[in-house]
Order: sequence, then structure tokens, then C-alpha cells
Amino acid sequence: MTAPVLHVRGVLLPSSEPVDLWLADGVVHTEPVPGAETVHTGGWIVPGLVDAHCHLGLGAGGAVDEETTLDQATTDRDAGTLLVRDAGSPSDTRWIQGRDDLPRLIRAGRHIARPRRYIRNFAVEVEPDDLVDTVAEQARAGDGWVKLVGDWIDREVGDLAPLWPADIAAEAIARAHELGAKVTAHCFGERSVAELVRAGIDGIEHGTGLDRDTIDLMAQRQVALVPTMINLATFPEIAASGQEKFPTYAAHMRDLHARHHDTLRAAVDAGVPVYAGTDAGGTIKHGRIADEIVALADLAGAEFALGAASWRARDWLGVPGIAPGESADLICYDANPLTDPAVTAHPARVILRGTVIA
Ligand SMILES: [Zn+2]
Repeated sequence: MTAPVLHVRGVLLPSSEPVDLWLADGVVHTEPVPGAETVHTGGWIVPGLVDAHCHLGLGAGGAVDEETTLDQATTDRDAGTLLVRDAGSPSDTRWIQGRDDLPRLIRAGRHIARPRRYIRNFAVEVEPDDLVDTVAEQARAGDGWVKLVGDWIDREVGDLAPLWPADIAAEAIARAHELGAKVTAHCFGERSVAELVRAGIDGIEHGTGLDRDTIDLMAQRQVALVPTMINLATFPEIAASGQEKFPTYAAHMRDLHARHHDTLRAAVDAGVPVYAGTDAGGTIKHGRIADEIVALADLAGAEFALGAASWRARDWLGVPGIAPGESADLICYDANPLTDPAVTAHPARVILRGTVIA
């Protein structure tokens, strides 16, 4: 059975021109295809949304089963996320890539952390001496990205501290690059991000500890930043739960949170490429890409936010947007998300590989 031929008409963002698109055999056509059924007209069209920091196959306690993973991926898809850059998963989620009804997935293999220096059951845990080899293993296991935990609470110090000596991190990043993979890292504090950017890393997750010089270096090298705004909003809760045993850490987290808007705004202004990521999968629920777009719009405007979650993110990840012959992955909205980014919470049509999903 072949899927029906579809037709949509609307303003294709970020341009302001109305277009007619025909969707047949899973791909976009800009010339009429006979027998098409019009499924949306008079609205706005956006290339399928991208969640650039999402965890499929991960729950609060670690790996989850396939049924739960399917539910996560379906929830993200129905919210408009049609491309996921996974930021580390303890589950083998390659099966998702064989399913036409699920979002496209770029995997990062497993998180890499040190023993007792990250959330239990999430990461491959190794000492620094084994970092280079472990990065090589995860580079081979993933789809071009390796995820390091750059910093986390050090209970002996009672504060955030880097997990990896800078020279070993630099060696590990160089090894990933030899294998054709890029490296990104979870960094909350000041020191880890400063060291890892200088060590040649390709991406930073969160980035609340960025200083002026590191921001400038990221802009110069076009190091990607995925702040995960809706996760940063939970810093006060994280601080409160650590207050009694680790008051220095708690104060540090509150300070990073208090400054995060200014810190990230400085990164945007300097030209650091910033992308939308929800961090769904640990404690953040799936399907919240619209919340992240709204938070990024508050930081840097609606067009910036929507680009960060769609066309700019696709360019960065090397996945085509809406063009003749490319996969028909697109979202239709009844109102203009550039006027009100909250519109993204209510897609009128989610179309994946030429099929209406929702
Ligand atoms: Zn994450």
C-alpha cells in the first residue's frame, strides 16, 4: 500500500512567502502531484523540529525497556520533534532508526563519567587513565557524537568539579576526531567548560559556567551550545536538595542559576551557535520541545528560538530541511510561531516521511 499524496499550503518559515508543497513517496515536491489531498492550508510550515539534547531509552533510574522507549519517542514525535540528537543513553536504541513512524535519531552512545561522579546507572564509568580508549569505543558505538560528563558534584570537595584532567580530555577529544566523531560535554560550572573548550571540544551542554574568554573562543571556533533552558530552571530544586550536606555546592548552583540568562545571552550576542534541547529522559519529561522554544525565545527572540529548534539545528546536524526530493518532515501551525512561539505547543499537522502523524 502506498501512502496518499498530500498537499499543504502555507508560509514556509523562516521566509515570509506562502508556498505549495506536495508530499509523495515520502519526499517533498514543489511541482503539483496529481491526486493530492490537501491536509493543511492558510497556516505556517516549519521543517521538522529538532531536539538537540534528548535521551531516548533513559529514565530517572537508568535504562528503560523498549516499550517505555517507544512511548518516549512517540511523545516527542507528536510534539513535533522529528529529529533527535541523543545526548547519551544506556540502552541500545538503534532499533528506532529502523522505524519509519519514529523520529530520526542521531545517537551518542553512552555517557562517559567517573565512578561515583554522576547519576547512578546512566554512564559508562571509567577512571581518567581509561578515558581515551572509552571515548574511542563510544565513538564507534554512536552516530558521530560522544558525550562526556564534564563536571558534577565532587562529594569530597563539596562543590562542582571537573571529572577529567584537561590534558587527558584533550587527548580523548583528538582521538574521537581521528575516528570522525565529535565530542560534547555536560558542564554546569566554570572550570570544566573553560578547560574543555580549550581542549578542542565540539559542543557544550548547559554551559551555565561560561566566562567571557570561553564564550569568545566558542564563537571563534563555532563550538555548539545546547543550554537546555527547561533543565536549568530546575537548578533551585537541585540546590535545595543538596543544601544540608553540600551548602557550598547548593550556593554555587543558585549563583549559576541566577546568572544563567546573562551568561547565555552573552553567548548568543557573541555568535556562539545555540540549539534547542530539552534534556528529556532523566527527570525532564519527553514532548517538551515547545517549552524549550518558548524559553529560548525569551532569551533571544522567536526567530532565533525557532531556528535553534528547526532550520539552524538541521543545518548543523547535516539533515536537510524542506527541499525538493528531501524527506517530507514538517510541521504545520494554524498561527504564526514567530509572532507567538507558544503556538509550537499546538501543531495542526505533524508530517513525518510524508505521512500525517498527528
Ligand atoms: Zn542530558
